[in-house]
Amino acid sequence: MSLKIEKTKSPKQKYSNSEQLGFGKIFTDHMLIIDYDKENGWHDERIVPYQDICLDPSAMVFHYGQTVFEGMKAYKNNGKVYLFRPQENLKRLNKSNDRLCIPQIDEEKVLEYLYKFVDLERDWIPEDEGCSLYIRPFIIATDAQLGVHVSNEYKFIVIASPSGSYYKNGLSPVSIYVEKDYVRAVRGGMGMAKTGGNYAASMKSQDIAHERGYSQVLWLDGVERKYIEEVGAMNIFFVLKDKVITPMINGSILEGITRKSVIELLRNEGMEVSEERISIDDIVKYYKNGELLEIFGTGTAAVISPVGKLLYDEYEMVVNDGKIGKISLHVYETLTNLQFGKIKDDFNWRVEI
Ligand SMILES: *Cc1c(COP(=O)(O)O)cnc(C)c1O
Repeated sequence: MSLKIEKTKSPKQKYSNSEQLGFGKIFTDHMLIIDYDKENGWHDERIVPYQDICLDPSAMVFHYGQTVFEGMKAYKNNGKVYLFRPQENLKRLNKSNDRLCIPQIDEEKVLEYLYKFVDLERDWIPEDEGCSLYIRPFIIATDAQLGVHVSNEYKFIVIASPSGSYYKNGLSPVSIYVEKDYVRAVRGGMGMAKTGGNYAASMKSQDIAHERGYSQVLWLDGVERKYIEEVGAMNIFFVLKDKVITPMINGSILEGITRKSVIELLRNEGMEVSEERISIDDIVKYYKNGELLEIFGTGTAAVISPVGKLLYDEYEMVVNDGKIGKISLHVYETLTNLQFGKIKDDFNWRVEI
């Protein structure tokens, strides 16, 4: 089966100023679609003009949330276009598929289609500092019936959105609210999958955090509410005096590709990075001892997000005087330089389109 390409006859007006892009608000001229049914498997691979999709109101995704997604970026520098470890995103998509009983995709074929799609949209990729093309692959269950069951039909869709710099005024630390009442995921649940339901579960706490004047939520484990899991859409790292620690992968945490890259990067530089069970009480203790030097989050959207404040049980910890730490800045610069093709890629993480 080969990819059909139907180019738009009426290209959209492109943005004129990357400062006004924001995140995920405008979309490129095309989208990639692949259908699935029992008889044909994944089939009818096509790139078509960006358009509405028509679904029966009883389509399963609307009712039972059988859906998964990914988030990745294309970066442009001196006219060259790069993706960062895209194979990892498709591998993770299949892990999410497995958890939600969605049929596996052919990672190699889809990667090829993805490259063609990004190439077709290359003029949409902003080249200004920190800007990129955010790419959102997702799968929805489209069976039109209300009985609870595994869907027999799906749509795999990829859309793309030129996005502005996450840090308009330079890398600035975020404030974080540690949630001790609500939980995002439990071991055995869907925490390790990138699926809409996890986000739906997180919104209540996000609201509370905002009301309290904090920008993001740090989740504790769902059973004892004691061990640190992750932030909204980021994994989390703590820089101590002699090592860097991050919660180990335990089934309820989303295994971030940025997380994995930061671990590999720091270890490669000879730093000790330990994946372990970290309790919030340990962090309070490190803080009081003066051992806690920096905290940062990792995720595709922000790459690295330094944490300036952490509120737990009405106790506020101000980390590194609320400023960006040395290690946070170092990983941010190294990763973005790798992503934008500004330094040599010893890891083979970059794919040029
Ligand atoms: C996507 C996501 C992350 C970050 O993953 P990256 O691959 O680094 O972008 C972390 N936590 C959650 C819950 C996520 O959905």
